[in-house]
Amino acid sequence: MICSGERLAKFLIARSIEAERVGTEDLEREHNRLKREFKKLLKEESLAEPEFPDYSFLHIKAELLKLRLKNCNFCERRCGVNRYESKGFCKCGVESYYASEFLHMGEEDELIPSHTIFFNRCTFACVFCQNYDIVYEDDYLVNPEEMAKIIEIRFLQGSRNVNFVGGNPDQHAHTIMEILCNVRVNIPVVWNSNMYHSEELAEVIEDVVDVWLGDFKYGRDECAEKYSKVKNYWKVVTRNFKRAYENGEILLRHLVMPNHLECCTYKIAEWVSKNIPNVKFNMMFQYRPEYLVAMYPEKWKEIARRLNREEMKRAMEIAREFNLNLV
Ligand code: SF4
Repeated sequence: MICSGERLAKFLIARSIEAERVGTEDLEREHNRLKREFKKLLKEESLAEPEFPDYSFLHIKAELLKLRLKNCNFCERRCGVNRYESKGFCKCGVESYYASEFLHMGEEDELIPSHTIFFNRCTFACVFCQNYDIVYEDDYLVNPEEMAKIIEIRFLQGSRNVNFVGGNPDQHAHTIMEILCNVRVNIPVVWNSNMYHSEELAEVIEDVVDVWLGDFKYGRDECAEKYSKVKNYWKVVTRNFKRAYENGEILLRHLVMPNHLECCTYKIAEWVSKNIPNVKFNMMFQYRPEYLVAMYPEKWKEIARRLNREEMKRAMEIAREFNLNLV
């Protein structure tokens, strides 16, 4: 896995490609031109020490995302708001805020110690959110240069990767790109996401993401709409997982939910085995009723409890049936 540190992190490859300083109207064109160069370099890439120009492909990405904030389409909600003036569904403007950052020892074995940065806010609105204290607050303003220094310090303390999470990282992609422009150590980037980003965002961020730590929650759009207020979940998330499969490593997380074994767990396992076989699959049993489900258990009664033994057993049967690569 990339976190072995044997390869150069993708954001450093992107930063080694010199870019032309162009006007805003030419940013897309310059990005597309350099992306072709990036793809070639990615194939050739070795551990040799690259040179870093003052202005690079990575800087173009940061500029391009800042421009797109004027008509935000970072995720498939496609609010189209100008985030310099107002806020969309995720309630994020231009500035990014975070709740905490630390060396996380509770992630999957191959990721730890993982330098986890918990950004505030989310593009979903899950009724069972276990991080609602992070999602619905703005805690500390992110200063990209300072955060880059923190990432370097955590690297010296032993982090194997920098793990952008929340909430969700997508709505902060412009800030994350600016942070990475300032990071000087070879640290793999983990994008810990709900996988509901737009194709336009994928086009930009995929060149800096080494590991997609992606949630696959629902097997039916009805479940996604009911519990997370999102539309077209299946189409968007399967599209994004297929794309991630082509350009990085995937560690897929599926949170098994009570009464959703056949509509969600089964359908996801079946799709994964056919479309992105052998990806690392974390079948998670730690669901607990939180947030609105805990406040109004009668309204959400089918998910207002933990999993029972039969459901856990059934999830493992499904994993065996589809020969999932469980971690
Ligand atoms: S990130 Fe998504 S939810 Fe937030 S403003 Fe942009 S399109 Fe809307």
